[in-house]
Amino acid sequence: MNQLSTPPRRPRWRSLALLALCLAPLLWPLHHLAERYYQDELASQNRQTLDLYVANLLGTLHRYETLPQILGDLPALRQVLADPFKLEAVTNANRLLKDIVQQTGAEVMYLMDVNGNTLAGSNWDKHDSFVGRNFAFRPYFIEAMEGRLGRFFGQGTTSAKRGYFFAAAVRDRDRVIGVLVVKVDLDHTETLWGRTPEQLLLTDQNGVVVLTSRPDWRFRATRALTAAEREAMLAIQPYPTQAPQPLNLNPDAWLTQTRDIKETGWQVSILAPHILIDRSVQTVMAIGAGALLVLMLLAGLVMQRRRHYIDRIGLEAHGRQELEKRVVERTADLEGLNTRLKSAVLERENAQQELVRAQDELVQAGKLSVLGTMSASISHELNQPLAAIRSYAENAEILLDHERTEDARGNLKLIGELTGRMASIIAHLRAFARRDRHAPESVALQPALDDALALLAKRRRAMAVELIRDLPDAPLWVQAGETRLRQVLGNLLANALDALTEKANPRKLWLSAEKRDDYVYLYIRDNGPGFTRQALERAKEPFFTTKTRTQGLGLGLAICESLMRTLGGELLLGNHPEGGALLTLQMRVAKPGATLPTSEDPSA
Ligand code: ADP
Repeated sequence: MNQLSTPPRRPRWRSLALLALCLAPLLWPLHHLAERYYQDELASQNRQTLDLYVANLLGTLHRYETLPQILGDLPALRQVLADPFKLEAVTNANRLLKDIVQQTGAEVMYLMDVNGNTLAGSNWDKHDSFVGRNFAFRPYFIEAMEGRLGRFFGQGTTSAKRGYFFAAAVRDRDRVIGVLVVKVDLDHTETLWGRTPEQLLLTDQNGVVVLTSRPDWRFRATRALTAAEREAMLAIQPYPTQAPQPLNLNPDAWLTQTRDIKETGWQVSILAPHILIDRSVQTVMAIGAGALLVLMLLAGLVMQRRRHYIDRIGLEAHGRQELEKRVVERTADLEGLNTRLKSAVLERENAQQELVRAQDELVQAGKLSVLGTMSASISHELNQPLAAIRSYAENAEILLDHERTEDARGNLKLIGELTGRMASIIAHLRAFARRDRHAPESVALQPALDDALALLAKRRRAMAVELIRDLPDAPLWVQAGETRLRQVLGNLLANALDALTEKANPRKLWLSAEKRDDYVYLYIRDNGPGFTRQALERAKEPFFTTKTRTQGLGLGLAICESLMRTLGGELLLGNHPEGGALLTLQMRVAKPGATLPTSEDPSA
């Protein structure tokens, strides 16, 4: 799995930040919209407040507007104007005015003569009484004297209270005989405002603040005053100050709405602090940003899910590819294996055919070999008795020449016996070749050994070989076949004599036997050269021979070995520690049986 090439993971937060950067400009229109919305909301709210205030103000003023004209017709007041020094009339007028003030809610009412002297007033009995004072400088007096309705706003020079003055002429027919003034208190309209964050601002025709909810703004100029305005101000003293300080309001900090009141030349404004909108906008922005954040997180989550999904799909695809690759490889392997198997089967078939052919050849060769072996064995085994027969026949000839017929007869008898034995050998060779098995029988060892020695007696004597016998007198019975045992013994003794020919005198031949456990051991030892190392290993192989002087066929020991095995015994080759060969015949012990002749019929 490690070889899986995983793409380097891009940091997810970087893409989120990028997304945030892309989405952030969305907040600007939101800000704009929210600001617009709250501004409109506040404006409409303030408009209503403003309308209400203006209506209230105008209502108050309208209530007193017509009073001076109506009151001018009262006889009690006219009497004062007719005779200002009549105390009773003045007192009546004072009381009347005071009554009316109490009934109408106006602040002060007073009556002036045509020179502007106050003759009677509702506040005649107060310390700040207007009675006796001259207000000819006030514009409302001048206007009233001219026959118009006098209007004026100003702070009372005596009372120091702000008020709106209405003045009308008192006429006697067409002649103006006096002026009646009603002063309305406007201080209370300020206090009505209350403690709201919005501020009230009422400016007169000079742009000077006359009524406001902020005491520090009072009597300050919202614009620069002209020289004429300053002059008029000095003359009529509408404000407690002669030079109003400028009021510099930051237009960005306030949301201002204004109404003109035409009949007074005033302007009423409501100033809402911008901070009110800002707070709401900030709340909206916070919610907007929060929503954006949530959106981003959701987007991040979706992106993560998507990436996991893509990764998983990639992994699965890779796994599938791997699997397919492995299947392809495995298929290719299998195909290769199949091809190899096919060729192996072909080779095997060829080899099989080869083998069959080789076996056929081998069988043929084996047949030839057996034929060769057989013929070689026959000639070898028959040569010895043939040589003996020749010697007996030559001997008999000589004996007949000397007319020793009896001895010649003996020889002929021996010749007869030898031919019988030869027939037996041939039969046994046939049996050997056919691997016939005769049931083992009890054979006495010593007579068989004597027979074998007798066959070689002449040669032994010629070679002057000393025979040393160490055999028990009692017959040693062994499991064997009479003829086969004699054949074996004859072979072994002949070999010993062959070996001794290669040695000078004294030549010795030891024969000894012993019975141990279930076996009888016969030892044949000579003091010849002994077995060479190679001969020890290979002497039992057919056709192995080292003999050069006498023509050896290399079959003697092979036949002996084979015969001994069929008899259940064994032939052991070795050398004596003092030199010369030592052959051991190991044979099974047999029950004592009948003596010669044997049951082995050579013709069988
Ligand atoms: P052959 O007698 O025809 O050579 P054998 O099978 O009888 O064949 O003997 C095989 C060989 O064993 C001989 O050629 C000889 O080298 C060795 N051999 C047999 N008997 C003796 C012995 N008594 N002493 C030394 N060598 C022997």
